[in-house]
Amino acid sequence: MTLQAGRLSAEEIAENFADLHPRLTPHEALVAADRCYFCHDAPCVTACPTDIDIPMFIRQIAAGRPREAGKTILQQNILGGMCARVCPTEELCEEVCVREVAEGKPVLIGQLQRYATDTVMAAEGHPFQRAAATGKTVGVVGAGPAGLAAAHRLAMHGHAVEIYDARPKGGGLNEYGIAAYKTPDGFAQAELDWLLGIGGIFVEHGRELGRDLTLDGLRAEHDAVFLGIGLGGVNEIEVRGADAPGVRPAVDFIAELRQATDKSDIAVGRRVVVVGGGMTAIDAAVQSKLLGAEEVTIVYRRGQDRMAASSHERQHATDAGVRIICHAAPVRFKGRKHVRKARFAYTMDGPDGLRETGETFDLKADQVLMAIGQCLDDAPESLTLAGGKIAVEGPGRTGVPGVWAGGDCAAGGEDLTVTAVAEGRDAAMDIHDSLTG
Ligand SMILES: Cc1cc2nc3c(=O)[nH]c(=O)nc-3n(C[C@H](O)[C@H](O)[C@H](O)COP(=O)(O)OP(=O)(O)OC[C@H]3O[C@@H](n4cnc5c(N)ncnc54)[C@H](O)[C@@H]3O)c2cc1C
Ligand code: SF4
Repeated sequence: MTLQAGRLSAEEIAENFADLHPRLTPHEALVAADRCYFCHDAPCVTACPTDIDIPMFIRQIAAGRPREAGKTILQQNILGGMCARVCPTEELCEEVCVREVAEGKPVLIGQLQRYATDTVMAAEGHPFQRAAATGKTVGVVGAGPAGLAAAHRLAMHGHAVEIYDARPKGGGLNEYGIAAYKTPDGFAQAELDWLLGIGGIFVEHGRELGRDLTLDGLRAEHDAVFLGIGLGGVNEIEVRGADAPGVRPAVDFIAELRQATDKSDIAVGRRVVVVGGGMTAIDAAVQSKLLGAEEVTIVYRRGQDRMAASSHERQHATDAGVRIICHAAPVRFKGRKHVRKARFAYTMDGPDGLRETGETFDLKADQVLMAIGQCLDDAPESLTLAGGKIAVEGPGRTGVPGVWAGGDCAAGGEDLTVTAVAEGRDAAMDIHDSLTG
């Protein structure tokens, strides 16, 4: 009944959450690199949101120079280590790799990227040096991928950077969101510490824009401001019983899991129902299963083809034993002291949008995780919004002079780690140009 910690032994849980794709050995890396055709106008580069010179870094690995390969990657994407672990490569570089197109087997770009960046990070020192101090200061709000990429690029150009983050640890969703088996062994904090090795970046935790800081105050204090505040709120739908104990946002469950020193302490239901169709739904479902839930069901209101989670991710979930039910929307969660049952209505897509057919079904559930999307938490009023996010032009310019934004909080672009890095980096270059031009 209800939630219970330790459904599996600590050893089983450790095994379940082990590194999804452990680092290649030097020999495996050479074999993988050898498959690359080093294409001219390589499609893999075009598909990479951070424009990493993929054939170049693979050639460097093939030539036995993995540190140089790592630097080629990190020049474009300072969080290349995290991206190597979490990028949906099957939809980006590896999807368009000519060896995937011709043979259905791409060059292992993501794993080679990890091999090269791990090599650089294991070496002494930081691969980049700061330029001479410019005397300018930039305030960066948010220590997630967007804020960190912006801060590093600005520091490299000699600006003094102050990062303000609301949470006790930096890294944003790298630390609090990404599935635990994609980034085990404290990699998010290790990468953050390594990134700060450039110098010139000072991080203040527990400092929240809107509570402890104002945009006007930051503008007065700094020569420029970059906002990388992500999407801190969760979407809500009106469902009877949604306040019952046992029903909670999936992102909170995932954050708790990521912060646990011992995952066998995390309480999970015997029967878990996850509502939603994106990456968060998949991660919540798979990790519930890995914690020992017996039945895990994802319920999505439209068809599989409309799910934000890719076919690769859906396959990952079903391989883990998760059931996916489509065309159903929650109408009621039942249970007085604790949720016991979730009622769903079948849905149909019609000319007037989605509608319920009138037929319903019940799923037994002692835990319901709502993964119906994140939203922007109270943005400063002076900013213009577009589609619920901060409206930006070009490389992250907001309508407020001296203020840039990027990553999930900014309109346009995909909500991916690599996109956030690209946007942070590009906004930083624009800030640099505006401060020195
Ligand atoms: C569960 C989950 C799994 C995901 N898995 C993947 C994946 O496998 N691969 C992938 O590519 N992408 C994944 N994503 C998406 C990816 O994590 C995000 O696109 C990326 O983290 C966005 O970076 P960001 O810097 O814009 O925002 P965030 O990572 O959200 O960072 C925002 C930072 O700003 C801080 N902040 C927020 N508000 C304030 C404020 N008012 N004042 C001060 N600080 C503030 C937060 O504390 C946080 O540190 C996942 C997302 C989720 C939710
Ligand atoms: S498309 Fe594939 S084969 Fe061509 S350069 Fe990129 S990784 Fe190498």
